[in-house]
Amino acid sequence: MIVVVSGPGGVGKSTVVRELLRRHPEMHRSVSVTTRSPRPDERDGIDYHFVTESCFTDWVDKGLFAEYADVRGHRYGTLVQSLESIRPEEVIILTIDVHGGTRIKAQFPQALMVFLKPPTQGELQHRLACRGSETPEEIAGRLELGKYEMTFAAEYDYMVTNRDLPSTVDIVDMIIQCERRK
Ligand code: 5GP
Repeated sequence: MIVVVSGPGGVGKSTVVRELLRRHPEMHRSVSVTTRSPRPDERDGIDYHFVTESCFTDWVDKGLFAEYADVRGHRYGTLVQSLESIRPEEVIILTIDVHGGTRIKAQFPQALMVFLKPPTQGELQHRLACRGSETPEEIAGRLELGKYEMTFAAEYDYMVTNRDLPSTVDIVDMIIQCERRK
């Protein structure tokens, strides 16, 4: 089963997915390819496959991506290979942007689409500021992009407001378990 999780940057997608994976050994995260540089705590092949622009372009030309998109000046893509090797009992989670999400849905109509939204715009601003990893200009850019991303929420099967982590993980977990039984 393919599960797509999207939502504005800073909404907590990675944290929610990390907790789901901790709870369920049969769930996996698709490791995306990106041209952005690794952050200090990120490891190649685990958080992302970090590649150069020319390598990314080469892989696009070779048709290795199921979808790819530009997000805030960097390129991100999901490898076809990571979606082909899923066993029926497995769940693979894609934490990708809204453009990638809609492309996956077009190719895999059975994919479960979950959109995470912040309780308020102010809360999102607060969370981004607390991360302390970006300048005020970068935060403003992320918030603008977030507003745009919110316009895609209606294309998702479920919209979940991330008020607090444990409840959000419980809700997303329940959605996945219910959909698996269908
Ligand atoms: P970050 O650089 O903060 O890890 O991710 C930036 C954005 O890129 C996030 O919205 C994330 O969901 C999105 N993203 C990560 N991997 C992929 C991917 O493989 N495809 C697409 N379309 N977006 C991705």
